[in-house]
Amino acid sequence: TYILGIESSCDDTAAAVLCNEQVLSNVVATQKVHEQYGGVVPELASRAHQQNIVPVIHQALKNANIKKEQLSAIAFTRGPGLMGSLLVGTSFAKSMAMALNIPLIEVNHMQAHLLAHFIKENTTTAVPSFPFLGFTISGGHTQIVKVSDYFTMEVLGETLDDAIGEAYDKCGKMLNLNYPAGAEIDKYAQMGNPHAFKFPIPNVKELNFSFSGLKTAMLYFLQRETKNNPDFIQENLMDICASFQHTIIEIVIKKLKKAVKQTHVKQIAIGGGVSANSGIRNALKDAEQKWDWKCFIPKFEYTTDNAAMIGIAGYYKFLQKDFTQNTITANARYAI
Ligand code: ATP
Ligand code: FE
Repeated sequence: TYILGIESSCDDTAAAVLCNEQVLSNVVATQKVHEQYGGVVPELASRAHQQNIVPVIHQALKNANIKKEQLSAIAFTRGPGLMGSLLVGTSFAKSMAMALNIPLIEVNHMQAHLLAHFIKENTTTAVPSFPFLGFTISGGHTQIVKVSDYFTMEVLGETLDDAIGEAYDKCGKMLNLNYPAGAEIDKYAQMGNPHAFKFPIPNVKELNFSFSGLKTAMLYFLQRETKNNPDFIQENLMDICASFQHTIIEIVIKKLKKAVKQTHVKQIAIGGGVSANSGIRNALKDAEQKWDWKCFIPKFEYTTDNAAMIGIAGYYKFLQKDFTQNTITANARYAI
């Protein structure tokens, strides 16, 4: 079975071809126009998708070395995401499926992030078994999800305000780092003292998160310190990053512990751009030793926004013959 996956929910235009659970090609065109604005500009994203979508799909088919007539179905991201961006992928997928007279499959982007764990790299790839806890941490999301089957998922907790990656990016801006700042903060954090400064751990109900308090704490902290010493940030960048990251890890581990206790599920599968974070990865490795958890971290290209995850989700729907009518519309607030 050959599935073409199309992803256009935010600022990456992506296409991938899968043969069953294996990825034959995975192409992403990352939009650079947003960097100068320090965040994604929806209208510009939508226009860039229109320019990118044909070449990206063409490249995905070429890299996979198959002709479009060989495709079994087309899977696309229906939502959640930016409406203008989703419309491009949705419309394109609908027309292409109609032109080729093959099934169309709609995919929920957040489910796809979790199903990315089932992509087969080789015969020895370890995949989670049901049920497991999905932990999606990205620029737009912070979610703990109980995954009982491929499409049986329940959100147990999520952020009430900023996403975890947003906290990284906004604090990075205060530290005069470029957007997105997550990877850079992570790099400096590894060279600093995590106990140099203290930031508050928020008290948030149940399995939910909140990162806006940490952001405000950082703002006031920097305002106070730079008043006395205008060079405070440059002189203490590594320690500030290390202390910030230490706080984030404390928040994350505290909630995951609570989720494990509540569900008795000890398998944790992380995804999203922030899952690249070295501190979080190390903390999870420790947890495997200390508490007998089992943690799954997919290859980086399958954890940030990509179309391979849309392809694998599409493949499982294809097996269930769960196809979509051509009258389907994008859904910017599509819930899991
Ligand atoms: P969503 O997938 O929810 O629509 P998105 O497309 O913004 O959101 P991703 O592309 O998955 O999210 O991730 C981008 C985020 O990951 C950015 O906020 C970035 O700062 C963060 N990030 C990347 N690398 C790291 C790292 N090593 N440590 C912390 N954060 C990181
Ligand atoms: Fe995403």
